[in-house]
Amino acid sequence: MSSVDLPADELTAEAERVLRICTACMYCDGLCPVFPAIDNTHQFKLSDLNYLANLCHNCKGCWYACQYTPPHPFAVNLPATLAAVRQRSYRDYLWPRWLGRAFRSPAVGIAATVGFVVLATLAIVLMCTPPAALFGADDREGAFYRVVPWSIMAGAAGASLLWAMACIALATVRFWRDIAPDVPKRAMLRAVAPALRDIVTLRHLGGGGPGCNDVGERTSQQRRWAHHVMVAGFAGTVLSTATAAIYHHALGVAAPYPLTSLPVLLGLVGGVAMLAGIGGLLGLEFRADKEPSDPREVRLNVAFLVLLALVTLSGVAVLALRGTAAMGLLLTGHLGLVFGFFLVLPFSKAVHAPFRAAALLRAAAEKAAARPRGKPDRG
Ligand code: SF4
Ligand code: SF4
Repeated sequence: MSSVDLPADELTAEAERVLRICTACMYCDGLCPVFPAIDNTHQFKLSDLNYLANLCHNCKGCWYACQYTPPHPFAVNLPATLAAVRQRSYRDYLWPRWLGRAFRSPAVGIAATVGFVVLATLAIVLMCTPPAALFGADDREGAFYRVVPWSIMAGAAGASLLWAMACIALATVRFWRDIAPDVPKRAMLRAVAPALRDIVTLRHLGGGGPGCNDVGERTSQQRRWAHHVMVAGFAGTVLSTATAAIYHHALGVAAPYPLTSLPVLLGLVGGVAMLAGIGGLLGLEFRADKEPSDPREVRLNVAFLVLLALVTLSGVAVLALRGTAAMGLLLTGHLGLVFGFFLVLPFSKAVHAPFRAAALLRAAAEKAAARPRGKPDRG
């Protein structure tokens, strides 16, 4: 039975068992911050397990380094065990609580919700938009808003995004209250800069230097770079939306904008970078050694990446084909995907970002508390 199949109590007991073996062994110290965090620890509370599970970046280095993996009787599989605990932590801290159930079959929940939202958006647009605006070729100023009025587009996107941000923020606050370290305020302040450095650089996807065991025994930096490219692309698309808002509200010019305009260039470059990063991450998911993985986490990752790819592809298609008769339906499909994407964010892989950031902040705070004042953190 894999760790993910274990009932809650047995999963907790299995995580404690494996971590106690690691504490006694500590061969992997130096691979990642999980090992310094468990040094000399022999009792693990549930909050400690949740903290360690989110501190783990799933680089799988400790699986390939470990001499106690199956068929050894100790049967240590730290990456899969922590991944299973991590999945459970997303579910347990999520608010509203009933939403956490979606983590049991996240791919099904995501596909069903997004599918419903896309179909509902399409049905509403078909009922409310004049056929000439929906099916005609129109690239004049304001063409998008003749398909879906700006107030409805912005209102639906804003409401679904607000819902997602509120759920994820509350889940993160609940997680942080459980794992917050007992350190002086000064140590917490000194921890902010090193924690931010680790978050932004994805330092721990470096597996202590040589990189992750992305697909097997050989280490590489592929996952780290694919993640960076995807996030940079995402930042480009956010900037594209922000500049489009400035064009609309400050300059009084409605979309669609010329190909050489800032919103379109940022959107295209960002979209292509996102697709490149998503492609790289999906490729690694499919090629990866499955034994040190949690199958539910793999499904969660794949569902999120596929959805992100669909949102990006549909956005790029709207930009590329906006002067054609396909624009109306493409825009409707893209908006449905965006609204659906925002609605499913609370039970998607998106939760890993603030949870891991919180875990890195605790790790940095404990390190800062143990470091003499004035001595800088050298990583
Ligand atoms: S993963 Fe294996 S080798 Fe590494 S510290 Fe744990 S028991 Fe030791
Ligand atoms: S998988 Fe990587 S990050 Fe996770 S505990 Fe093992 S070495 Fe650390």
